[in-house]
Amino acid sequence: MQIRDIISETKDIGKLDLINIISFTLSMRKEEILMNVEREIENEQLAHIKNLVKDRMRGKPLSYITKSKEFFSEPFFVDERVLIPRPETELLVEEALQILTKKPHISHILDMGTGSGAIGIAISKRTGTHIVCVDISMEALSVARKNAFLLQASGSIHFVCSDLFRGIKRGRKFDMVLANLPYVSHEEWDGVMVEVRDFEPKIALYGGVGGTEVYERFAREIPHYLEKDGYVICEVGGDTQGKKIKGMLETIGLTVVVKKDLSDRVRMLTGHG
Ligand code: GLN
Repeated sequence: MQIRDIISETKDIGKLDLINIISFTLSMRKEEILMNVEREIENEQLAHIKNLVKDRMRGKPLSYITKSKEFFSEPFFVDERVLIPRPETELLVEEALQILTKKPHISHILDMGTGSGAIGIAISKRTGTHIVCVDISMEALSVARKNAFLLQASGSIHFVCSDLFRGIKRGRKFDMVLANLPYVSHEEWDGVMVEVRDFEPKIALYGGVGGTEVYERFAREIPHYLEKDGYVICEVGGDTQGKKIKGMLETIGLTVVVKKDLSDRVRMLTGHG
Protein backbone atom coordinates (compact mmCIF):
# COMPACT_ATOMS: atom_id res chain seq x y z
CA MET A 1 0.00 0.00 0.00
CA GLN A 2 1.21 3.48 -0.81
CA ILE A 3 1.08 6.59 1.36
CA ARG A 4 -1.49 8.07 -1.04
CA ASP A 5 -3.82 5.07 -0.49
CA ILE A 6 -3.90 5.49 3.28
CA ILE A 7 -4.53 9.20 2.86
CA SER A 8 -7.47 8.64 0.54
CA GLU A 9 -8.88 5.68 2.49
CA THR A 10 -8.83 7.18 5.98
CA LYS A 11 -11.91 9.26 6.57
CA ASP A 12 -12.38 9.03 10.32
CA ILE A 13 -9.84 11.60 11.45
CA GLY A 14 -8.72 14.96 10.10
CA LYS A 15 -6.16 14.98 7.26
CA LEU A 16 -3.64 16.98 9.23
CA ASP A 17 -3.82 14.57 12.17
CA LEU A 18 -3.40 11.66 9.78
CA ILE A 19 -0.36 13.21 8.13
CA ASN A 20 1.14 13.81 11.56
CA ILE A 21 0.56 10.16 12.47
CA ILE A 22 2.13 8.93 9.20
CA SER A 23 5.05 11.29 9.66
CA PHE A 24 5.57 10.05 13.22
CA THR A 25 5.38 6.37 12.25
CA LEU A 26 7.64 6.62 9.22
CA SER A 27 10.00 9.13 10.89
CA MET A 28 9.61 11.46 7.94
CA ARG A 29 8.93 15.18 7.97
CA LYS A 30 5.37 16.16 7.02
CA GLU A 31 6.53 17.91 3.85
CA GLU A 32 8.40 14.76 2.83
CA ILE A 33 5.21 12.73 3.20
CA LEU A 34 3.39 14.94 0.75
CA MET A 35 6.25 14.82 -1.71
CA ASN A 36 6.52 11.02 -1.53
CA VAL A 37 2.91 9.84 -1.70
CA GLU A 38 3.93 6.94 -3.95
CA ARG A 39 6.15 5.44 -1.31
CA GLU A 40 5.21 1.89 -0.30
CA ILE A 41 4.42 1.32 3.35
CA GLU A 42 5.43 -1.97 4.99
CA ASN A 43 2.70 -4.04 6.61
CA GLU A 44 4.04 -3.56 10.09
CA GLN A 45 4.09 0.21 9.72
CA LEU A 46 0.63 0.13 8.21
CA ALA A 47 -0.72 -1.77 11.20
CA HIS A 48 0.94 0.76 13.48
CA ILE A 49 -0.61 3.69 11.63
CA LYS A 50 -4.04 2.04 11.79
CA ASN A 51 -3.74 1.56 15.54
CA LEU A 52 -2.78 5.18 16.05
CA VAL A 53 -5.69 6.31 13.88
CA LYS A 54 -7.99 4.26 16.13
CA ASP A 55 -6.49 5.95 19.20
CA ARG A 56 -7.13 9.33 17.62
CA MET A 57 -10.73 8.34 16.85
CA ARG A 58 -11.24 7.48 20.52
CA GLY A 59 -10.24 11.06 21.31
CA LYS A 60 -6.62 10.57 22.32
CA PRO A 61 -4.88 13.91 21.81
CA LEU A 62 -2.53 13.98 18.83
CA SER A 63 0.32 15.16 21.07
CA TYR A 64 0.08 11.98 23.17
CA ILE A 65 0.14 9.91 19.99
CA THR A 66 3.18 11.63 18.51
CA LYS A 67 4.70 12.22 21.99
CA SER A 68 5.46 15.79 21.16
CA LYS A 69 4.15 19.32 21.54
CA GLU A 70 5.79 22.52 20.47
CA PHE A 71 5.89 25.17 23.18
CA PHE A 72 7.74 28.45 22.82
CA SER A 73 9.37 27.07 19.65
CA GLU A 74 10.83 24.07 21.47
CA PRO A 75 9.71 20.48 20.84
CA PHE A 76 8.66 19.15 24.24
CA PHE A 77 8.25 15.43 24.88
CA VAL A 78 4.78 14.71 26.30
CA ASP A 79 2.79 11.65 27.29
CA GLU A 80 -0.16 10.83 29.54
CA ARG A 81 1.84 11.68 32.66
CA VAL A 82 1.64 15.41 31.93
CA LEU A 83 -0.78 18.06 30.77
CA ILE A 84 -0.07 19.04 27.18
CA PRO A 85 1.38 22.58 27.21
CA ARG A 86 -1.19 25.08 25.94
CA PRO A 87 -0.39 27.95 23.58
CA GLU A 88 -1.91 30.46 26.03
CA THR A 89 0.65 29.42 28.65
CA GLU A 90 3.31 31.00 26.43
CA LEU A 91 1.91 34.31 27.77
CA LEU A 92 3.50 33.52 31.15
CA VAL A 93 6.88 32.88 29.56
CA GLU A 94 6.67 36.11 27.55
CA GLU A 95 5.78 38.05 30.69
CA ALA A 96 8.65 36.51 32.65
CA LEU A 97 11.15 37.26 29.87
CA GLN A 98 9.97 40.85 29.69
CA ILE A 99 10.42 41.33 33.43
CA LEU A 100 13.83 39.64 33.28
CA THR A 101 15.07 42.09 30.65
CA LYS A 102 14.11 44.98 32.89
CA LYS A 103 15.38 43.34 36.07
CA PRO A 104 18.49 41.39 35.13
CA HIS A 105 19.38 40.88 38.81
CA ILE A 106 16.59 38.30 39.12
CA SER A 107 18.28 34.99 39.75
CA HIS A 108 15.93 32.82 41.82
CA ILE A 109 12.96 31.60 39.85
CA LEU A 110 10.40 28.95 40.75
CA ASP A 111 8.06 27.17 38.35
CA MET A 112 5.24 25.81 40.54
CA GLY A 113 3.28 22.93 39.00
CA THR A 114 5.78 22.50 36.21
CA GLY A 115 4.23 19.40 34.56
CA SER A 116 6.24 18.76 31.39
CA GLY A 117 8.63 21.53 32.46
CA ALA A 118 7.41 23.80 29.66
CA ILE A 119 7.50 27.14 31.50
CA GLY A 120 10.71 26.62 33.46
CA ILE A 121 12.65 25.07 30.61
CA ALA A 122 11.54 27.72 28.10
CA ILE A 123 12.73 30.48 30.45
CA SER A 124 15.94 28.71 31.34
CA LYS A 125 16.76 28.14 27.66
CA ARG A 126 16.29 31.81 26.81
CA THR A 127 18.06 33.28 29.80
CA GLY A 128 20.29 30.65 31.38
CA THR A 129 18.79 31.62 34.75
CA HIS A 130 18.71 28.94 37.41
CA ILE A 131 15.18 27.61 37.92
CA VAL A 132 13.55 25.35 40.47
CA CYS A 133 10.74 23.29 38.94
CA VAL A 134 8.20 21.87 41.38
CA ASP A 135 5.43 19.35 40.86
CA ILE A 136 3.32 17.15 43.11
CA SER A 137 3.57 14.32 40.60
CA MET A 138 6.77 12.29 40.51
CA GLU A 139 5.68 10.97 37.12
CA ALA A 140 5.32 14.47 35.71
CA LEU A 141 8.78 15.33 37.03
CA SER A 142 10.27 12.39 35.13
CA VAL A 143 8.87 13.94 31.96
CA ALA A 144 10.16 17.40 32.91
CA ARG A 145 13.62 15.95 33.60
CA LYS A 146 13.60 14.19 30.27
CA ASN A 147 12.71 17.49 28.56
CA ALA A 148 15.46 19.38 30.34
CA PHE A 149 17.89 16.76 29.05
CA LEU A 150 16.47 16.58 25.50
CA LEU A 151 16.32 20.35 25.18
CA GLN A 152 19.73 20.71 26.80
CA ALA A 153 18.63 22.87 29.69
CA SER A 154 19.45 20.40 32.43
CA GLY A 155 22.45 22.22 33.87
CA SER A 156 20.53 25.07 35.42
CA ILE A 157 17.32 23.38 36.56
CA HIS A 158 16.47 21.67 39.80
CA PHE A 159 13.45 19.43 40.18
CA VAL A 160 11.56 19.08 43.43
CA CYS A 161 8.61 16.77 44.09
CA SER A 162 6.37 18.69 46.45
CA ASP A 163 2.76 19.55 47.18
CA LEU A 164 3.04 23.30 46.54
CA PHE A 165 5.68 24.69 48.94
CA ARG A 166 5.63 21.79 51.39
CA GLY A 167 8.98 20.42 50.21
CA ILE A 168 10.71 23.80 49.98
CA LYS A 169 12.60 25.06 52.99
CA ARG A 170 10.78 27.89 54.70
CA GLY A 171 12.74 31.07 54.33
CA ARG A 172 14.13 30.14 50.94
CA LYS A 173 13.16 33.17 48.86
CA PHE A 174 12.47 33.55 45.16
CA ASP A 175 12.51 36.68 42.99
CA MET A 176 9.90 35.25 40.68
CA VAL A 177 7.33 32.48 41.04
CA LEU A 178 5.41 31.26 38.01
CA ALA A 179 2.38 29.05 38.49
CA ASN A 180 0.06 27.22 36.15
CA LEU A 181 -1.90 25.36 38.80
CA PRO A 182 -5.09 23.36 38.29
CA TYR A 183 -8.06 25.71 38.03
CA VAL A 184 -10.96 23.86 36.39
CA SER A 185 -14.00 23.91 38.69
CA HIS A 186 -16.43 21.08 39.41
CA GLU A 187 -19.08 22.79 37.34
CA GLU A 188 -16.76 23.29 34.39
CA TRP A 189 -15.42 19.74 34.52
CA ASP A 190 -18.40 18.18 32.70
CA GLY A 191 -18.06 20.71 29.92
CA VAL A 192 -14.36 19.98 29.37
CA MET A 193 -13.64 18.39 25.97
CA VAL A 194 -13.46 14.57 25.96
CA GLU A 195 -9.88 14.76 24.69
CA VAL A 196 -8.91 16.63 27.81
CA ARG A 197 -11.22 15.03 30.38
CA ASP A 198 -10.62 11.42 29.44
CA PHE A 199 -6.94 11.60 28.61
CA GLU A 200 -5.08 14.35 30.43
CA PRO A 201 -4.15 14.06 34.12
CA LYS A 202 -7.04 15.32 36.22
CA ILE A 203 -4.63 16.28 38.98
CA ALA A 204 -3.17 18.93 36.66
CA LEU A 205 -6.55 20.39 35.76
CA TYR A 206 -9.09 20.07 38.54
CA GLY A 207 -8.89 22.87 41.07
CA GLY A 208 -11.54 21.66 43.51
CA VAL A 209 -15.25 22.50 43.65
CA GLY A 210 -14.85 26.20 42.92
CA GLY A 211 -11.68 25.74 40.85
CA THR A 212 -9.58 27.97 43.08
CA GLU A 213 -8.71 25.64 45.97
CA VAL A 214 -5.12 25.08 44.89
CA TYR A 215 -4.56 28.78 44.19
CA GLU A 216 -6.01 29.62 47.62
CA ARG A 217 -3.41 27.44 49.28
CA PHE A 218 -0.72 28.82 47.00
CA ALA A 219 -1.60 32.40 47.94
CA ARG A 220 -1.52 31.52 51.65
CA GLU A 221 1.91 29.92 51.46
CA ILE A 222 3.70 32.18 49.01
CA PRO A 223 4.46 35.13 51.34
CA HIS A 224 7.04 32.91 53.08
CA TYR A 225 8.87 32.26 49.83
CA LEU A 226 8.72 35.50 47.87
CA GLU A 227 11.37 38.21 47.99
CA LYS A 228 10.07 41.65 49.05
CA ASP A 229 9.96 43.05 45.53
CA GLY A 230 9.32 39.66 43.94
CA TYR A 231 6.94 38.75 41.13
CA VAL A 232 4.18 36.15 40.96
CA ILE A 233 2.89 35.19 37.52
CA CYS A 234 -0.19 32.94 37.44
CA GLU A 235 -2.31 31.38 34.75
CA VAL A 236 -6.04 31.54 35.50
CA GLY A 237 -9.25 30.40 33.81
CA GLY A 238 -11.37 33.42 33.00
CA ASP A 239 -12.79 36.67 34.30
CA THR A 240 -14.68 35.56 37.43
CA GLN A 241 -11.93 33.28 38.61
CA GLY A 242 -9.29 35.84 37.68
CA LYS A 243 -10.97 38.39 39.94
CA LYS A 244 -11.09 35.95 42.82
CA ILE A 245 -7.41 34.99 42.57
CA LYS A 246 -6.44 38.63 42.03
CA GLY A 247 -8.20 39.38 45.34
CA MET A 248 -6.19 36.65 47.08
CA LEU A 249 -2.90 38.06 45.80
CA GLU A 250 -3.90 41.59 46.80
CA THR A 251 -4.73 40.39 50.29
CA ILE A 252 -1.13 39.33 50.73
CA GLY A 253 0.03 42.79 49.67
CA LEU A 254 0.79 42.40 45.97
CA THR A 255 -0.18 44.83 43.24
CA VAL A 256 -1.79 42.80 40.47
CA VAL A 257 -1.99 43.39 36.73
CA VAL A 258 -4.47 41.33 34.70
CA LYS A 259 -3.88 40.22 31.10
CA LYS A 260 -6.17 38.54 28.60
CA ASP A 261 -5.39 35.82 26.07
CA LEU A 262 -6.06 35.90 22.33
CA SER A 263 -9.67 34.84 22.88
CA ASP A 264 -10.11 37.86 25.13
CA ARG A 265 -10.41 35.81 28.35
CA VAL A 266 -8.60 36.79 31.51
CA ARG A 267 -5.67 34.39 31.50
CA MET A 268 -2.76 35.80 33.45
CA LEU A 269 -2.19 37.70 36.67
CA THR A 270 1.12 39.34 37.50
CA GLY A 271 1.55 40.28 41.13
CA HIS A 272 4.41 42.46 42.25
CA GLY A 273 5.49 43.08 45.82
N1 GLN B 1 -6.32 25.70 30.21
C1 GLN B 1 -6.35 24.34 30.64
C2 GLN B 1 -7.43 23.62 29.90
O1 GLN B 1 -7.53 23.63 28.81
C3 GLN B 1 -6.45 24.22 32.13
C4 GLN B 1 -5.10 24.32 32.68
C5 GLN B 1 -5.07 24.34 34.17
O2 GLN B 1 -5.97 23.91 34.88
N2 GLN B 1 -4.01 24.88 34.66
O3 GLN B 1 -8.21 22.87 30.13
